[in-house]
Amino acid sequence: MKYYSLQNPSYTTSFQEAVVKGLAPNKGLFFPSVIPHLPEGFIEQIESYSNQEIAFQLISPYVAEAFETDILNRIINETLCFDLPLVTLSEKVGVLELFHGPTMAFKDIGARFMAQCLGHFYRNEDKEITVLVATSGDTGGAVANGFLKVPGVQVVILYPSGKVSPIQELQLTTLGHNIKALEVEGTFDDCQQMVKTAFMDQDLTDQSTLTSANSINVARWLPQMIYFLLGYKQLEEKNTPWVISVPSGNFGNLCAGMLAHKMGMPCHKFIASTNVNKTVPDYLKTALYNPKTSIQTISNAMDVGDPSNFRRILEIYKSDHEALTADLAGYWFTDDQTRGAIVALEQQFGYTADPHGAVAYLGLMKYMEGHPGVQGTFLETAHPAKFKEEVEATLSVTLDLPSQLASFAGRTKIAENIASYDDFKAYMMR
Ligand SMILES: *Cc1c(COP(=O)(O)O)cnc(C)c1O
Repeated sequence: MKYYSLQNPSYTTSFQEAVVKGLAPNKGLFFPSVIPHLPEGFIEQIESYSNQEIAFQLISPYVAEAFETDILNRIINETLCFDLPLVTLSEKVGVLELFHGPTMAFKDIGARFMAQCLGHFYRNEDKEITVLVATSGDTGGAVANGFLKVPGVQVVILYPSGKVSPIQELQLTTLGHNIKALEVEGTFDDCQQMVKTAFMDQDLTDQSTLTSANSINVARWLPQMIYFLLGYKQLEEKNTPWVISVPSGNFGNLCAGMLAHKMGMPCHKFIASTNVNKTVPDYLKTALYNPKTSIQTISNAMDVGDPSNFRRILEIYKSDHEALTADLAGYWFTDDQTRGAIVALEQQFGYTADPHGAVAYLGLMKYMEGHPGVQGTFLETAHPAKFKEEVEATLSVTLDLPSQLASFAGRTKIAENIASYDDFKAYMMR
């Protein structure tokens, strides 16, 4: 499988190069040259396959030249080290929980898969590869955890001092081994700027291969197809039209679901559920794409005003607005509506949702109001305890920390203080 650049389709490369480079020149996103179809009869027989076998069927056509079968199987086993249960709330509504991974964020899947890929590519190299990550909180934890102890790979995380939650800071700074944390005197944008400068700094690129574990990397994007199929596998009523609501920010997750649909996964409608950062719901309505600056909300992992992966969704549909809107509806919601949904889910079903899952629930309800004959699933992308303060205040309860998060409390933070690019460079040159 070749990957081409969405900025320049004549620029093509292999899976390995696409993963290591992250982006093509001029910030082009990589896109697979062919969208393969699932084998005949696979969907009908899906319940007879293990989760690992399903993942293998989905992923192998995209990476066949990069890995032997047993290597890909090992990578998939490392990636899928946790459950992805579909929890029934009512006869018509279920929630697919994606947060049972090591950092309790759905980004664990993509981060673990990418880490295993890089570890394999660099297994015999004399030169290590260094992954630079700027984080405003959540992503850094999933990436750090995914790359922990992967041989041949060093990870350097930059985070803004005082601007991540205490538990997030512990997730970034206490892992040790190949994970190094830098506490930057500045904002998230300052962290991101340092990473960008480093990629252009020849002193650093001569010394070590640098890469980023950005969410647009194909190795983080493609494995997300897996949980849509695992959701389908667990559906009890497969003959009713199935509708999936995806809480969306940068639109990687939804784009993976729509790719799985193109490969043959049945789905009657996808729903792009957003907070007030509603660039995509607006586009679906008007056919005009107007990127905006992002607005801060309580579902902050979705505060994206110009979602990069939406370009890939347009590519799947060859920018045909009518074909796209036949498969995709979009709705957006305010923070007050989101809090209302957290309360409603608790009262009606005894289900505690986080703000992102609550937005997805709202999108599903809105669609089902007008289309009562469907079977609905919404994705829950983070454990509610990751957004403890907000959920506790909304429900007037105290949440217990699950063991994955509680185990960080009391560990010792190890981070270097960085005040400028020169500090950062000096640290990297040591
Ligand atoms: C990243 C994230 C999202 C948004 O996913 P995209 O693929 O960027 O659309 C939703 N919820 C949570 C909890 C996230 O961390």
